[in-house]
Formats: sequence, structure tokens, C-alpha cells
Amino acid sequence: MDDVIKDLKGCRLCADRFAATATQHSPNPIVWFQPGARLLIASQAPGMRVHQANTPFWDQSGKRLRDWLGLDETAFYDRSRVAIVPMAFCFPGYNAAGSDLPPPPICARTWRGRVMAGLKDIKLTILIGGYAQKYHLEAPGNVTETVASWRDHGPGVIPLPHPSWRNTAWLKKNSWFERDLLPVLRARVKKVMNDTDNAA
Ligand code: SF4
Repeated sequence: MDDVIKDLKGCRLCADRFAATATQHSPNPIVWFQPGARLLIASQAPGMRVHQANTPFWDQSGKRLRDWLGLDETAFYDRSRVAIVPMAFCFPGYNAAGSDLPPPPICARTWRGRVMAGLKDIKLTILIGGYAQKYHLEAPGNVTETVASWRDHGPGVIPLPHPSWRNTAWLKKNSWFERDLLPVLRARVKKVMNDTDNAA
């Protein structure tokens, strides 16, 4: 795993792609995992604030996600227990409308298999957003369908919408999410974080 982390931190595969965006930024892979982690947060891609802070979910989305998971910052950023593995490790840039671009597919193609192979102790996988759900699930629907069917994925997987403020209207419209899913999510996360032998 040390080799993967070292190689990943040095990755510059998307340098030309990022240089062509409005922000003209350089690759900055946000690498936040180590062997032994039990909770996998499979996310989308860093935003600009995360790119600048070098810390995953160091933004408003992270605050909401930590609330959903029932974790404080100390637990959330404890790499011995939590692996945060996005579908792209670098900030992709903005589109013309000012939204984040999608994660470059080359990132998952190049890195995801190697990273996953090193995370052998994962007991609970949180799939955030459509890109991670498409990668990790066999037959995902759209995000609403996939999250609504959260009970069908077994005790080791829970799909979530992205915790972005852009999804606040979605949360209001789908009140079952906070009422039914979040209590189960928090209970499973708590168990995995506290139980080293028989998690989830
Ligand atoms: S997004 Fe992934 S493939 Fe592209 S430069 Fe960053 S680490 Fe490399």
C-alpha cells in the first residue's frame, strides 16, 4: 500500500486537462487512506476548498456528511479507521455554469483497483453520489432510486446522495432519508468504528 500511496501522490495524468480549465490548476491528489481502515467513504472528487486545504470534505459538504454519519472531525479524519477514496483524487475544475466537473474516468481506471486491493478490512462502504454508486454496484438506478433502495444492498453498503448544499431541496423532498435511513446509517457507522472484530 505504501507504493500505491507514493505513486498516487505523484500522479500528474490530468495535468493538461486541468490546465485547460478556468482555474488552470495543477493536479493535487487528496490521498486519505491506509491499510486497516474499516469504514470506506467512496466519494466523487475534491472541490476547490478541499484542493486548497489538502483535506477531504474540508467544506460545508463535509459538515453535512459528518452529521449524517454521526462522526466528529477527530473520528472522521482517523485514517486508521476511515478511508476516504473518491472516484477522482484531484479537483476536476468547474464547468461553464460554475459547477464542479465530473471526476475524470481515467482516475478510477488507473488507481481504484490498486487502492481497493489494499483496503482488505472494510466492513462498511458508504457510496456517495452516482459515480461511486455506478462503480461499486452492479445495477444502480439513478441516485434517488439507488438511495431509496438502500435496504437492498445488505448490511455492508449504504448509498447516499452527495451532501452538497445543492441537494438541500432533494433532502426536503425525500423526508424518508433523514427519518428512516440516517438512524440506521449512524448505528452501522458507530458499530464499525467501535468494533474491531465483528463490525457491521
Ligand atoms: S485525478 Fe487521478 S488520474 Fe488525474 S491527476 Fe489526479 S490522481 Fe492522477
